[in-house]
Amino acid sequence: MEEEKEKKVLTILHGAVIITMDKDKRVFKNGAIVIEQDRIKAIDQSRSILSQFSHLALHILDLTGHILLPGLINTHVHTSQQLARGIADDVDLMTWLHDRIWPYESNMNEHDSYLSTLLCGIELIHSGVTCFAEAGGQHVSGMARAVELLGLRACLAQSTMDYGHGLPSSWATRTTHDCLQSQKDNYEKFHNTSQGRIRVWFGIRQIMNSTERLLLETRDAARQLKTGIHMHVAEIPYENQLVMDVHKVNHGTVTYLDKIDFLQSNLLAAHSVWIDNNEISLLSRAEVKVSHCPAAAMRMLGFSPVREMLDADVCVSLGTDGAPSNNRMSIVDEMYLASLINKGREVYANGTTDPTALPAETILKMATVNGAKSVLWDDELGSLEVGKKVVIGSGYADIVVVNPSSWTMVPIHDCISSIVYCMRTENVVSVMCNGVWIMKNKKIINVDEEEVILKAKQASVELLKRAGITIPTRMNVI
Ligand SMILES: [Zn+2]
Repeated sequence: MEEEKEKKVLTILHGAVIITMDKDKRVFKNGAIVIEQDRIKAIDQSRSILSQFSHLALHILDLTGHILLPGLINTHVHTSQQLARGIADDVDLMTWLHDRIWPYESNMNEHDSYLSTLLCGIELIHSGVTCFAEAGGQHVSGMARAVELLGLRACLAQSTMDYGHGLPSSWATRTTHDCLQSQKDNYEKFHNTSQGRIRVWFGIRQIMNSTERLLLETRDAARQLKTGIHMHVAEIPYENQLVMDVHKVNHGTVTYLDKIDFLQSNLLAAHSVWIDNNEISLLSRAEVKVSHCPAAAMRMLGFSPVREMLDADVCVSLGTDGAPSNNRMSIVDEMYLASLINKGREVYANGTTDPTALPAETILKMATVNGAKSVLWDDELGSLEVGKKVVIGSGYADIVVVNPSSWTMVPIHDCISSIVYCMRTENVVSVMCNGVWIMKNKKIINVDEEEVILKAKQASVELLKRAGITIPTRMNVI
């Protein structure tokens, strides 16, 4: 009689292959997860879970034939740039920045940012992302509104620049103090909002647009507020050369950041392509996290020494970068590319390709466990397990459901390999974040996808007109 009075509040997912990514690398062939509110209460063999918890379950979902993964984490994305997809294809870097991206971003309003983040968020969810690190646009309030609505988890940041040539006039007048104050205001307003799904970080665009004062005061403010800093680091050789010339250091940005004591464990360095072995040691010693964005690197930057960083114990995770740098915001595609590119890159390092470089389990770790470390949330995210480091006892229920029964993935002999080398975005069928379904059977739950697409198309046309950006037509368009 006592038992009957117990409230049925649990959700049970059972019958699935579960790739936990826990420390013991457990993969359940026929596993089940119990979810209580926003957290994982138990994970074990299906038979054991069903016998223990069925009587308390409000929802029991049979996922036979499916694979469950921890929510994937995209550690470098510009959600504000989604409306700029396709505006800077096949152009050189300076045209990309000065003639397309800066005019676009400086003419955006808060509502554009909201729509852009909604559109980007839809694509992220379809690719199994439950958490992302925003590299920084201008309207954190617009991003936060979209993240709140979509049900995603995010570390949001404003992009700040207090120095540099060619900045749009509306940005050029911003002082160092303005840059810091607006970020502190964002922290006050949005940090830990949306049931704790939103955290606010500090953002620094890149070294060429930052004074030393902005760097040091950002470091101190982030340390004081116990949050992270997101910054593009060592993207192109020109950047390193400029740093050497101006700051009189013997290598590039990382060497300089070490010299001013900026490198610390809450720094998420995006790209970090042009770094030498000594700088890899500096990143490792300071426990700096690196977001590797393979598609954007191939398109604009070059080969990043990912294997060397991993060998030196640098935490390297995966990012898509923004739509104008990559066009596809799919972390599934980035997993595939990261593995292929880094196997091929061995030609430059060792004279021959190495098919064993960055194997599938390493890539999946980068998209989950290392992603969680990179966003400073590994006490609660990155693996499917009970009893992570949090005092209250369990990790968040951020879960991806994959249906592998399609021409893209069958037959499956090793599910980890299949996830990295075969899975397409289309195989991601359902996504749960914070214990709530945000996509079910490929349908985004909290927003009308078609309506967002329609509004985003209109907003993009109007924004480009306002910014005076024209995209030359190619071929003989008649
Ligand atoms: Zn970026």
